[in-house]
Amino acid sequence: MTLAPWLQAPYQAVGNRIDSGRFPHAILIQGGRGLGKLPLALAIAKRLLCETRRADDQCSACQLFDRQTHSDFYRVDVAEGKTVIDIESIRELSENLATTSMLGDRKVAVISPADAMNTAASNALLKTLEEPTPGSFLILCSDRPAKLPATIRSRCQKLSLSVPLPSEVEAWLREKGVQFEAWMTHQPYLAQDVEYAERQSLIRQQLELLIDGQADALAVADHLAKLPLSYVLDVMCMWVGSAMLQSSGARQVALSRVQVQIVRYLADELTGLNARATLESILLNFAKQR
Ligand SMILES: [Zn+2]
Repeated sequence: MTLAPWLQAPYQAVGNRIDSGRFPHAILIQGGRGLGKLPLALAIAKRLLCETRRADDQCSACQLFDRQTHSDFYRVDVAEGKTVIDIESIRELSENLATTSMLGDRKVAVISPADAMNTAASNALLKTLEEPTPGSFLILCSDRPAKLPATIRSRCQKLSLSVPLPSEVEAWLREKGVQFEAWMTHQPYLAQDVEYAERQSLIRQQLELLIDGQADALAVADHLAKLPLSYVLDVMCMWVGSAMLQSSGARQVALSRVQVQIVRYLADELTGLNARATLESILLNFAKQR
C-alpha cells in the first residue's frame, strides 16, 4: 500500500521506533476525519507484523496481512447495526491478545474509531492497557480524542496528524483523477467518497442560497436538518479553516483546529429539538451577516 505524502513522515518516525525496539505498547493516532489515520494505522500494523519489520511486501506475514487473513492482527470497529464499540468486542480482543501469537512473536490490534467505545468498553480496554501482554500492540485512531477517558489517553503515546498543504493534496488527488476542491485539503481521504462529496455540495449549495439571499434561513434549515447537526457544523468549520489557510498561507492554523474541536463537542451534546433550534439560530445569524 502506498501512503499519501503527508503520512510518510509520521510513518517513518514510527518505523524508526520499531527498528530500534522503542515502539510503545499503545499509540493513539489523532487528527481530523479523512486525514488518513486508518491507512497509517494499517501500515504500522503491517510493519510490526512483517518478518523483516520493513513491510517488505514479500514475506508470508505481509502477504497474509494484505489478504486480510493474518491471524495475529485484529480490527475492532463499530459493528454493523450498532452505534458504539461495546464491551463484548473489547473483551474478545483482550482474550485474543492474551493468547500466544500464531505466526510470529507479535500481535497487533487497531481500534478505530476508538472514541466509539462506550464506558464499559473503555474500562475493559484500560485493564489491557495497564497489564499489557508482552508482544501485543494497540493502535487507537480517533478524530475526537477528547471523548476518550483521560486514563486511556494517558496510557497511549500520541501521534497527531496535521492538515496537509493544499498543493500536496491537489497533486495526490490529481493522480487519482479527482478534481480538487478547497474542503478536500482537510479531508483528502473522503474526496473519493461520492456520497460524502454529494452531501458536501448539498450543504454548500444551501449556504450559498442563503448568502445570496435566494433562500431564507428557515427554508435552508429544513433542508439541512435532515443531516446530523455535527455533520453540517463540520462542513461550516471546514470552510472557515480553508478560508483561514488561504488567507494566512500557514501550514497549520491552530485556532481553526480548536474551533473545530469546540464545535464538534457542542454538536455532540445537542440532540433532537435542541439541534434543530441551534441550526435555525446559526443560519439566522449567518443570513444577518451577509
Ligand atoms: Zn514482510
